[in-house]
Amino acid sequence: MEDDPYDLHPSEQERGDWLPPITDALDDVLDAEMLVCVRAAEKLQRIDWYRRDAIARAAPRGIGRDLAERSARLELACGLRIGEQTARMLMARAEALIHRYPAAFQALSGARITPKHADLLTLMLDEVPDPGLRERLVDPAVRLAEQEPVGTFTRKLKKLIEKEQAPTLTERHRVAMAHRHVWVEDAVDGMAWTHLYGPAVDAHAAYDRATAIGKSIRKAEAKAGVAGPRSLDQLRADVYGDLLVTGVVKAHPRAAQRIRAQVVVTVPALSLLSDEHATAPGAEAAVVEGVGPIPIETARELAADGKEWMRVLTHPETGMVLSVGRDRYKVPKSMRRIIAWRASRCLTPGCGMPAHRCEIDHRVEWHEGGETSIINTNPLCKGHHIIKTLTDWRIDQTDGGGVRWTSPTGRTYTVEPERKLPAFTIPPPEDPPPF
Ligand SMILES: [Zn+2]
Repeated sequence: MEDDPYDLHPSEQERGDWLPPITDALDDVLDAEMLVCVRAAEKLQRIDWYRRDAIARAAPRGIGRDLAERSARLELACGLRIGEQTARMLMARAEALIHRYPAAFQALSGARITPKHADLLTLMLDEVPDPGLRERLVDPAVRLAEQEPVGTFTRKLKKLIEKEQAPTLTERHRVAMAHRHVWVEDAVDGMAWTHLYGPAVDAHAAYDRATAIGKSIRKAEAKAGVAGPRSLDQLRADVYGDLLVTGVVKAHPRAAQRIRAQVVVTVPALSLLSDEHATAPGAEAAVVEGVGPIPIETARELAADGKEWMRVLTHPETGMVLSVGRDRYKVPKSMRRIIAWRASRCLTPGCGMPAHRCEIDHRVEWHEGGETSIINTNPLCKGHHIIKTLTDWRIDQTDGGGVRWTSPTGRTYTVEPERKLPAFTIPPPEDPPPF
């Protein structure tokens, strides 16, 4: 290429070592990334200040650290418009990095490691139960994070931790076993994930069994000439579902063996009748409480069989119990159903706990004269019921039938119930006929 006489950029040679190095487009990206790291550290620092401030403010009011943190977590989630679980993780990560792994926090503040490295470092070191070992691992972990890309960093740190911990595997497995649990994560298109955190041996045994059952079903279906055979992946998923929803384990107590899944499904009355109604523009979908819309064929099947399903038609049925006033504190079963049907979920900002697994909260407390009525009761999950009752969060009813939460810092967040209650009004008497 010929020399461009108008090129004012000095060559590498001309620059010598007295001009700053040439930057290019990638340098701009790296610059921006550096700022992201610095700001990420600053955000964590501020979150930690907020957490400690909330604890300090709550203490003189007799609210303990744990409750104050849960209350602060709810407000952080509301403010950032993220899930409470994410808010909890943010707060925990900030606390860990700043107070347990300050060397990693310094590295993030100086943009020597990325927020992803910092996350993984915290997660992995937090799982080391021996505090002494954890402390010894911090410096090598930070050095790895400064040198390696995320994937390599994770592998090398995992290896390092495993090597140091090899002699204590039995004890660690015992501790880890205490954390076994199951959770459901909603996905789109009427689907959801089931996660089970448990012993690796059981997890693989279950998978292998489902595979074997799936293969045997596939063979039987092929023999019988069933059209549209299911793939092994599909069969395995169906077997898992069948076993969990309807399987019975003889070793369980008799009472437990009789327990069946209960799902509340709301079906628009018209859609049940015909496809024409179900697919008409503006037609309402069938809805499973706490889950979301489901295909109308599934809803029809559910509505047609099984006492495991409570059916609520979106046409209000007459004779529903709306209030029992001050006659009784305990919410009658028929009213519980209406309360759950109206809200669908825990009526706390961002909470997804299905209403049938919630407690019924008296908004105006019973001992303060609150009634057992539809408008004075809301489903709240156990954790949020405790926060509402024992911390400085307050709730009241909005004109539109929603629930307004006021946080300890005075901010408000409104949650609308899933459905409006039908209003029952008595028409005014007609004017008397003129003489
Ligand atoms: Zn809740």
